[in-house]
Amino acid sequence: MLQNQVGQALAKKAACNVSWDKHTLNFYSVDASSYAVRPSAVAYPKNERDIIKILKFASLHKVSVTPRGAGTGLVGSSLGNGIIVDMKHFNKIKVGRGFVQAGSGAFKGDIDKILKKHGRFLGPNPSIGPFCTIGGMVGTNASGSHSLKYGSTVDNLISVQVVTPKGNLVSLPQKRFLARKILKIANLETQKHFPRVSKNSCGYRVDKITKKSDVQKIIAGSEGTLGIITSAKLKTLPIPRQTVLIISSYKTLKEAAYDVPKILKLGPSAVEVIDYNIARHIRVSLPKGTKCLLFVEFDDSISRKRKKCTGLLSGKMVIHTTKEKQIARWWSHRNSALSHTLRNTSRNEMIFSSMEDATVPVHRLPLLLDLVEYLTSRYPIRVIVYGHAGNGNLHTRPILKKKDKHLMRKIALEFFSGVISIGGTITGEHGDGLARSEFVKMQYGNKTYGAFKKIKRLFDPDNILNPGKIVI
Ligand SMILES: Cc1cc2nc3c(=O)[nH]c(=O)nc-3n(C[C@H](O)[C@H](O)[C@H](O)COP(=O)(O)OP(=O)(O)OC[C@H]3O[C@@H](n4cnc5c(N)ncnc54)[C@H](O)[C@@H]3O)c2cc1C
Repeated sequence: MLQNQVGQALAKKAACNVSWDKHTLNFYSVDASSYAVRPSAVAYPKNERDIIKILKFASLHKVSVTPRGAGTGLVGSSLGNGIIVDMKHFNKIKVGRGFVQAGSGAFKGDIDKILKKHGRFLGPNPSIGPFCTIGGMVGTNASGSHSLKYGSTVDNLISVQVVTPKGNLVSLPQKRFLARKILKIANLETQKHFPRVSKNSCGYRVDKITKKSDVQKIIAGSEGTLGIITSAKLKTLPIPRQTVLIISSYKTLKEAAYDVPKILKLGPSAVEVIDYNIARHIRVSLPKGTKCLLFVEFDDSISRKRKKCTGLLSGKMVIHTTKEKQIARWWSHRNSALSHTLRNTSRNEMIFSSMEDATVPVHRLPLLLDLVEYLTSRYPIRVIVYGHAGNGNLHTRPILKKKDKHLMRKIALEFFSGVISIGGTITGEHGDGLARSEFVKMQYGNKTYGAFKKIKRLFDPDNILNPGKIVI
């Protein structure tokens, strides 16, 4: 079927709204990444039956289907040239004891507001804040500053409902037949090639699956390639009574990196870093020679941990506070890191995005910084650095002249092989998408990649769902 015929043909078969006008297609051609892919049509299902009809149509006509939440993903994972399924109508939220059950199109901000009334919160907190959806968080295995203490989405996912490309509505881990097959693929041999890092959004997370009650985790980070999530049940936690934020200034990123393992021994709820390219946009006076800031947060045993931490930091103290408003203001500076990064480029420069999410074992952070320094000396690039230092997860954003664009792939390849050789993953939270799927095999090797292909075939034998992402 020709691309421009899909919308009209789907509208005849689907029971829900379908759009294929120029304005809609332009809007859904992009997300928060630097990629653009024009879809054929956009569908807005209101219930599971609508999704099943879309998938049956897609299978019959060999058209791809890409589920989409808020489109805030950073690697183009919600872009596709077939049918985009916008899940905005799946927005019901139900709070239970120790969990929230939310439709995949529910916004995190709406969930946060409701949970707050119950004195609860969600562990994973992407810096994008309220603007992402549960489907997107599960789809990318999103995390954030608090994942240091509370884990990524994969660690908080209790159960999930998906519509598979064959048109079946499936609950995991309950669906026994599927659970058995997933468990068989997720064996020790497959798992041993996973890096020992605290966050990972590369490939399918078979390493998190050791028993039947874990099999829902296969959907976390699956980027819409295995099923369309209709709802997910996630753990919630009691909101801490008080937190303390300690910010320290360093003359080099490496000095800050050496402090991180010492801080981790105290059990912080967050340890984040921003370099001077970002810190300079904060309108406060910083100690002379500041080249980076380390943010350390504790949400239990506040006074004891505050005292110990301020005693062990080798940097210069900028602030330590328990005042809620002050803490929120400083966190908003940290969470604006990406927009501050974009303000650092001139008209003839560009930022490339494939090497922006590496994660290494935390004691190897200095080696990751060495790798970045080496690439900066070898190629005409400068690199902005920020991220979740406590997890060994740095967002390294290289800026290069547009005329040097052809070097991007070469630099990324060198970077990825360096990251893998120091025991890291090429993506800790943003996923593979269009930016990194071609490097998933390099990360894991043939055996584990072969297991990923089996997982994909198990759910989606005709490769209808978001093709080209994760396994290619
Ligand atoms: C400024 C900024 C800061 C960010 N900070 C962080 C951060 O700190 N940590 C972090 O982890 N991420 C971060 N992100 C990335 C992004 O916001 C998160 O990954 C977010 O969870 C994506 O949610 P979304 O609703 O926008 O998903 P989308 O971008 O719409 O989709 C993301 C993926 O999930 C899939 N998907 C969406 N809905 C479904 C569904 N119903 N069924 C199956 N698959 C589905 C899509 O197909 C796609 O593959 C940031 C992004 C921005 C722009």
